[in-house]
Amino acid sequence: MKKVIIVGSGLSGATCARILAENGFKVKIIDKNNHIGGNVYDEKEEGIFVQKYGPHIFHTNSQEVYDFLSKYTVWFPFEHQVLANIKGVYIPVPFNLDSLHALYPENQANEIEAILVNEYGKDNKVPIMELKQHSNPIIREFADFVFKTIFEHYTTKQWGRSIEQLDPNVMKRVPVYISRNKNYFTDKFQYQPANGYTKMVENMLNHQNIDVKLNTEAKDVLSFRDDGIYFENEKTDAEIIFCGAIDNLLDNKFGRLPYRTLNFVYETYEMESYQPAPVVNYTVDMEFTRISEFKKFTTPNVKSDKTIIVKEYPLEYENENQIPYYPIANENSLNTYKKYVDFVSQYPNFHLLGRLGNYKYINMDIAVSDAIKLSQKLIEK
Ligand SMILES: Cc1cc2nc3c(=O)[nH]c(=O)nc-3n(C[C@H](O)[C@H](O)[C@H](O)COP(=O)(O)OP(=O)(O)OC[C@H]3O[C@@H](n4cnc5c(N)ncnc54)[C@H](O)[C@@H]3O)c2cc1C
Repeated sequence: MKKVIIVGSGLSGATCARILAENGFKVKIIDKNNHIGGNVYDEKEEGIFVQKYGPHIFHTNSQEVYDFLSKYTVWFPFEHQVLANIKGVYIPVPFNLDSLHALYPENQANEIEAILVNEYGKDNKVPIMELKQHSNPIIREFADFVFKTIFEHYTTKQWGRSIEQLDPNVMKRVPVYISRNKNYFTDKFQYQPANGYTKMVENMLNHQNIDVKLNTEAKDVLSFRDDGIYFENEKTDAEIIFCGAIDNLLDNKFGRLPYRTLNFVYETYEMESYQPAPVVNYTVDMEFTRISEFKKFTTPNVKSDKTIIVKEYPLEYENENQIPYYPIANENSLNTYKKYVDFVSQYPNFHLLGRLGNYKYINMDIAVSDAIKLSQKLIEK
């Protein structure tokens, strides 16, 4: 029987585990956490699914990913909406015509709306950077205002760096909606798992060929030697899929990779509703970036007179007791990452996967889709 050792029981690892188990592999999955699910881990409190690593909302255009996950969960449809709190005024995000009217005096808002509609047509969306370079000074001024109010402070808070120090492609994609569309995502499939994400991952891992071992740090059981990879001090020819931080596994031998981490502060309130939307971004003040109210996106129609929220405080990842949430991709860090990739490519049975393994921010659907592809490659190997 072919063998695979998977480090990480998040969506990437769990997807590979399931597909490979169904294709005759004996799967051993280890995780340093005391629970499965990685970032999507949730627990029920006060009748509400509370996500322990920040708010997660599933959305995808991939029929394949949706069909795959649908084998392990029932869903409820969920169209996400985000507001920004601008010193007490709530406006829709992405910035749309309602946001415009909420922040500008009526005459001015009407004038800007008319120019935008005339120029780009109604129900269109335009990248903010394009508006910033528009020939009409009214539009340029409007774009500068939106940029400052919605993106500048928020992005600096999120990344601990000025916008100029970040990958310019990030800002290029940020749209302004010339419509009253309030939906945060535009994907074909927008759902949440009705019984939570942990249950979905538990169902994925529930297979006779899968053995899960928690509280196990990869560094304690895996080592790279000249003649191959050792698992629990024995040379192994099993396929190894690693969904963790490769710099950490290799004791930072080519230098540390930069990440942002998050400090989550959970609060419970004796009230039906804390805020007017599932997620409210704080784009002009506060040290936290956003507040998420779980019952509004994990557990609809829950009968509870309490509500649970989480505030997210971004900070620099400094030590291994923190969780590296967001890889900071820039020329330097990508060069360092490449040294790790080159090193592990000497070991043909070692595969990097997932948000940490591939050192890039990915949404859940991409995590699943990448894992499906790697599994197919290993089945055909
Ligand atoms: C705050 C936040 C919000 C997000 N919101 C969304 C969203 O709304 N929608 C969306 O689609 N995506 C969202 N994402 C992205 C989503 O979390 C990822 O796509 C997904 O979690 C990737 O799964 P993964 O298995 O690759 O990684 P993870 O979920 O991080 O799993 C990795 C697992 O590996 C284990 N591990 C790591 N290193 C080691 C080691 N050395 N030894 C043993 N075990 C190890 C970890 O304990 C963990 O269980 C969000 C991410 C963050 C950070």
